[in-house]
Amino acid sequence: MSDIMKSIIDRDPGEKEFHQAVEEVIETIKPVLDRNPEYRQAAVLERITEPERVIMFRVPWMDDQGQVQVNRGFRIEMNSAIGPYKGGLRFHPSVNLSILKFLAFEQVFKNALTTLSMGGGKGGSDFDPKGKSDNEVMRFCQSFMAELFRHIGPDTDIPAGDIGVGAREIGYLFGMYKKLSNEFTGVLTGKSLGWGGSLIRPEATGYGAVYFAEEMLATQNDSLEGKTCLVSGSGNVAQFTVEKIIELGGKVVTLSDSSGYIYDEEGIDRSKLDFVKRLKNIKRGRISEYIDKYSEAVYTDADTTLDFNPLWNHKADCAFPSATQNEINKKDAQNLVKNGVRVISEGANMPSTPDAIDVFLNNKLLYAPGKAANAGGVAVSGLEMAQNSMRLSWPREEVDSRLRIIMKSIHQSCLDAATEYGVPGNYMAGANIAGFVKVINAMLDQGLV
Ligand code: NDP
Repeated sequence: MSDIMKSIIDRDPGEKEFHQAVEEVIETIKPVLDRNPEYRQAAVLERITEPERVIMFRVPWMDDQGQVQVNRGFRIEMNSAIGPYKGGLRFHPSVNLSILKFLAFEQVFKNALTTLSMGGGKGGSDFDPKGKSDNEVMRFCQSFMAELFRHIGPDTDIPAGDIGVGAREIGYLFGMYKKLSNEFTGVLTGKSLGWGGSLIRPEATGYGAVYFAEEMLATQNDSLEGKTCLVSGSGNVAQFTVEKIIELGGKVVTLSDSSGYIYDEEGIDRSKLDFVKRLKNIKRGRISEYIDKYSEAVYTDADTTLDFNPLWNHKADCAFPSATQNEINKKDAQNLVKNGVRVISEGANMPSTPDAIDVFLNNKLLYAPGKAANAGGVAVSGLEMAQNSMRLSWPREEVDSRLRIIMKSIHQSCLDAATEYGVPGNYMAGANIAGFVKVINAMLDQGLV
């Protein structure tokens, strides 16, 4: 283990997700440090792994029974070398400092890859919106923003959604920000269309992950047409991943949530996807209800006693993990290879464990890490910020075509950086190197701040 990794672990021993994210980057950017000794001299690794600012705060709110509840709020302002902090808010009971620091760290590299000027941040709370009434969610969001508003702004830090934070939560958060700051500005992205949102923002992460897969396949003169795909999750990213795969002629056979997964051998077509969108976004139901309507599908409960996830153990060509971190372990990766999967495009952040990634790379799969494959979401958030600044809204076709161009450019940057540093075809190394060099050079230009 490198000295820098050892000192990061010694300093914050409990932060295993953060350590995992940092270690992956440190391992892959070694050739960059070897070629540029001035980087080591300037202690760039020590600087880039330490957040510029961490804000933690109490979020008290009252539930529908009149009982006071207390959650913890966070915002990690990781790096502002190339632009204001940008990154989502996650509301999920598992949220802690380690998870948000890993997400903020990854966000720095991802945002650098998008070609837009955005630094990296991430935030959220251990609040669980599941099972809460709209009024409870509103009171929580208002209390959360009552503290967060003093730390963010359209040119300072611009949060967005993530797990558990969709259009409803962004609306409540924005309303409170506007009231407290007395300003109508583009301080959050993922807003509804009627009041500053961008067309294609809800679709962008899923569509982008599919465009990235299409780019990888094109390097082998192939495409998604006729391919069978495994998708996990059934939230925002999963839904629009499925939508784009269908549009490009592929077939999706799985979806999941934290309770279990469905396998539909005939494929999830447009009308089935519409059902899932209504089920998840309006009814806020569970994916198990899919089989009540489509009895040809099979539902399997999540089983934590297994050392693998059966969702990844079906015959397929491509996999799009779109739920959460570390959802593919080594055994899952081996099952994917055994079942013929050749393409992995990560819609989720860090969904594959390090030894799962080793399996992908050793078997020469086309493997796109989340920080490249799912960058479409933050890229269109950047486009939402641009539209807000101009007080304009671009048509759907324009935003979609910009998204396509950005995903193409990210794909090319990964390939070029990987080739330049002697690991051709390794998208993970390419993404880390391209993002790292851009951010580090900006940090060095700006002096020791
Ligand atoms: P949503 O909240 O819309 O959906 C999350 C989905 O993943 C749900 O189906 C949820 O199931 C499932 N899930 C969440 N946690 C777990 C868990 N611990 N175990 C099993 N399933 C789980 O979130 P998004 O679709 O927005 O985000 C999905 C992933 O994509 C995350 O990793 C996020 O960081 C990443 N991402 C999202 C972007 C965006 O624009 N939204 C941008 C870039 C990356 P359940 O309902 O049961 O919790």
